[in-house]
Amino acid sequence: MSVKTKEGKALTKKLENTWICDACGGSIKNASEGWSQWIGYEGPDGKWKGQGFRLVHHRMECMYDDCRIMKGEGSVFDMPLGALLGPDGLMYLLALIDAGSVATDEVLDMIKRLHIPGYEQARRYFDRAIDKELIRPELWPGYFCYQKEIDTVLSHNWNEGVLIECSNDESRAAA
Ligand SMILES: [Zn+2]
Repeated sequence: MSVKTKEGKALTKKLENTWICDACGGSIKNASEGWSQWIGYEGPDGKWKGQGFRLVHHRMECMYDDCRIMKGEGSVFDMPLGALLGPDGLMYLLALIDAGSVATDEVLDMIKRLHIPGYEQARRYFDRAIDKELIRPELWPGYFCYQKEIDTVLSHNWNEGVLIECSNDESRAAA
């Protein structure tokens, strides 16, 4: 039912260094179009805790509405997407974890999105790929996938999350 597609491989390369906006679902085609944000809440101990860490287009329609969030007593924290790339960006994200200033699971996912090749493109298909037994992540649960698993997900033809089944699959080719 599956196809190892050359198109899939091409897709991976083509989409590397692009991201998917968490607000509109559109493509962030380069780092300068992207923005990262989270909402911080000051706890009774005076420490700030953040959540809702996301990547969006750097435009009003996609960014958090500061005014609305301030009414709920949270504050928007943000950084250019580009500032989270490269070794300094990774170091900053690790520091966020150490400081506990943003929910750890959200920072971990952001690290994977920005620093693991193919993860950003593959992540929305992981559930379905696991359901269809295309992959069985070998590492810890929570989409800690090796490159070979990411490559497998990206080498299939997905259309809005539905696997397009083709006739020239490996088993048939081998028969
Ligand atoms: Zn957007």
